[in-house]
Amino acid sequence: MTSASGPGPDDCIFCTAAEPGRDELLLERGRVSFVVLNKFPYNNGHLMVVPNRHAPNLATLSADEQAELMRLTRHAEMALTEAYAPHGINVGINLGKSAGAGVLDHLHVHLVPRWNGDTNFMTAIGDTRVLPEDLQASALKLRPIFERLSRHEA
Ligand SMILES: [Zn+2]
Repeated sequence: MTSASGPGPDDCIFCTAAEPGRDELLLERGRVSFVVLNKFPYNNGHLMVVPNRHAPNLATLSADEQAELMRLTRHAEMALTEAYAPHGINVGINLGKSAGAGVLDHLHVHLVPRWNGDTNFMTAIGDTRVLPEDLQASALKLRPIFERLSRHEA
């Protein structure tokens, strides 16, 4: 099935990621949203906070979803700070293709840890993303921190 506005829930990577059993890259599961590592990271620790529901924008989120999205984004900031001690973190949402969204119609918040000089490094290597850490290592490092953060809030 195709549509002009992008993939529907059936072939959406975030809808699939929310299903039980698809959790190699999952870091925290909330009630209505979750945190997952980006399979194609811009930097070590690049992760995303995503509502379970196939919602295209902030306007269509329920109050519950808004609150938990921000709660998990806060956890993500804290976990990345603890695990990677970055110099900064980009936190951002791209709405629509023109804004650079890779997955249309399913809102997601990117968190990308940044280090002084990493832009120069990225420029130097062009499109090749050479990351010293693999995704499983990132997951093993981050998951216990998310578990602790969610336990302390319960
Ligand atoms: Zn979706």
